[in-house]
Order: sequence, then structure tokens, then C-alpha cells
Amino acid sequence: MSTPTVTEVADGVHFVQSKAVNWTLLTDGDALTLVDGGYPGDHDAVLSSIEQVGRTLDDLAAVLVTHAHVDHIGSLPKLLSGRDVPVLTSETEARHAHRDFLEQATPLQVVAASWRPRVLGWSLYVMSAGGMTKAGVPEARPFAAGPLDVPGRPVPIVTPGHTSGHTCYHLPDAGVLITGDALITGHLIVARTGPQMVAPMFQHDAGANRQSLEALRSLSGEVLLPGHGSAWHGSYADAVDQALA
Ligand SMILES: [Zn+2]
Repeated sequence: MSTPTVTEVADGVHFVQSKAVNWTLLTDGDALTLVDGGYPGDHDAVLSSIEQVGRTLDDLAAVLVTHAHVDHIGSLPKLLSGRDVPVLTSETEARHAHRDFLEQATPLQVVAASWRPRVLGWSLYVMSAGGMTKAGVPEARPFAAGPLDVPGRPVPIVTPGHTSGHTCYHLPDAGVLITGDALITGHLIVARTGPQMVAPMFQHDAGANRQSLEALRSLSGEVLLPGHGSAWHGSYADAVDQALA
């Protein structure tokens, strides 16, 4: 396991970067919310990040999911096994997490793009991180209206496109927006950094994703935490403009 990088970007908001994907820890007193959980192979890195913020798995009060792709829910089955921790996401994304349907690039699509050197290296990493599993999270269930009564009090903003029930989480008091894969700032398969959309191969509905970004423009805050890439500081309207350009 490579040790993930943990950065406290605002009071009680800890941004965690593993090799290929990010997650976020929200602390409130001893209690903890985990937003997304990396690949199956990130299980130990998630535990390490919880230790780095001075908490243990017993402090975990809730898990929020931006979307049910393997790089965002992979560690959860092992992490939560035998624990009664609620896993919350949008109603549509809960069904995705149940694997009632699967909106994920197929291995064949990935192989077809593997002539691109970065894609080949990335797909080898995905395989080593357990990314070929189709396992879901059966215990995922829909959240109620926000702000959610979990540490950090995030406000869900449903942003369909990347997946049909993709959800961003806004932390108005902290001035932070967790964008998942609706808007990212980098990816192992692209050289460019800065606000951008995920490559078309990995989008369920790129047009809907573009539409969904409009809802982010007017939110309060100056810190953006994407599912892939570095934290970004600036106005969300600027981030959306750059991603749509
Ligand atoms: Zn992702």
C-alpha cells in the first residue's frame, strides 16, 4: 500500500489522495463521515487516512457515495463488513450500488483504448487494485433531504450524467464542494490538469453531465475536491467554465 496524502482543506474537511482516486473525511468531534472509498485495493489506504486524522473505524458514523463506480465504492464491502454504518447516496445511485444496473466502461471498451500508453498503464493499475470486480454495496440507501444529519452536515446536489444518480456534496459552512466525477482536475489517463470533465469513455451521459454542472456555479465556497486530480481553489463558476471549455 502506498500511504495516501491527507490535507485538511477547511476545518474538519480532510481531502485524501491515493494513487488513482480521492476520497474525503469529514470530522465533527470524534465522529467521522467518509465520502467515497477508493478501489478494493485502497482498503488499507482508507484505514490509514482515518488514522492520519486521529480517528478509528469505530468513529465512522456514515458513508456517502458520489457514485457507484468501483474506484469510489471498492473498499466499502470489506471496510463495513459486520458494521452497522449507513451508506447513503441518491435514490438512483443506490440502485446502481445494488447493481440493479451497471453504468461503467466495460473491459472491452478499455482494451479498445489501450493503444494510448496512459490508458494501458492505468488499466494495469486498475487490475492490480481489484478494479475488475462488479461487486456493489447492497446496504446503500437513499439519503433524505439535505443538509444530512451526519458529521459535516453535507448538502447533496444530484448531478446526473457521469452516472444517472451521481451526487456532489456541498459543505456551505466550510466553503467546500465535493464534486466526485462530475468535475475532475486530473486523471492518470490524461496529461492535462485543471477543471475538466471525465473522458467520454467513462461517461454514461456526457451531455447530462454538462447540464448538471450549471447547478454548481452559484454555490458558496472556494475549495473544490474532485474524485480525481488535486484540490482546486477558486470560484465554482470559473471551474465550470474551464470544464465546459
Ligand atoms: Zn472515478
